[in-house]
Amino acid sequence: MKYKRILLKLSGEALMGNRQYGIDNDRLVEYAMEIKQVVDSGCQVAIVIGGGNIFRGLAGAAKGMDRVQGDYMGMLATVINGMALQGALEDAGIYTRLQSAIEMDKIAEPFIKRKATRHLEKGRVVIFGAGTGNPYFTTDTAATLRAIEIGADVILKGTRVDGIYDSDPEKNADAVKYNSLSFDEVYKKNLKVMDMTAFTLSQENNLPIIVFDMNKAGNLLKIINGEEVGTLVSA
Ligand code: UDP
Repeated sequence: MKYKRILLKLSGEALMGNRQYGIDNDRLVEYAMEIKQVVDSGCQVAIVIGGGNIFRGLAGAAKGMDRVQGDYMGMLATVINGMALQGALEDAGIYTRLQSAIEMDKIAEPFIKRKATRHLEKGRVVIFGAGTGNPYFTTDTAATLRAIEIGADVILKGTRVDGIYDSDPEKNADAVKYNSLSFDEVYKKNLKVMDMTAFTLSQENNLPIIVFDMNKAGNLLKIINGEEVGTLVSA
């Protein structure tokens, strides 16, 4: 196994499936099955999930809402997604814990690094909800921060495209995919991998990032086993 402890980042939008808003249950079950495969193979899995399928602080601010208020709403959205994913994983027979950066002890443990790593060692999937717990950040930054804190080998950013391209493959048919890139190359070519705060945190802590298509069955397991899937960004 190439990676023994991973941090999987899923966007909230990924959970929408073909819907315009909210959570698609079929998609949730598919993701749970993908995650089960890697857990069963002995890999330790932590997950950060976004909230964009429910609420984004920036979108609220654009409509005149207070940004900080909106960002907290976005963080709560990630807890809703985290609970949904937790339910689907448990239905698949996986032990899980949800840890939240905002305390809500009826539904989630508070984020405690030592507890999180202990859960991982015991084979439980740990879902980190409520982002970093701070407004003006994203769940990509939360994913990077948590990955570093728990000593993950890699951050796996599951998206609907199969890697990083020189231009947007959904708009440009000639777009060329990169198999691997250095942090410096991403920066110099101005490629979009994660927001700058998250990206810089990864680079400074030498945490590799793999961007891959989470909607293709088997991809997650292939990556854990060391197959070249998606685009690897490393030092
Ligand atoms: N958010 C925040 N602080 C964080 C993480 C998230 O304020 O540490 C808020 C922010 O408003 C963001 C929303 O939660 O827009 C949902 O997260 P994100 O946009 O990263 O979700 P994704 O794009 O992955 O679905």
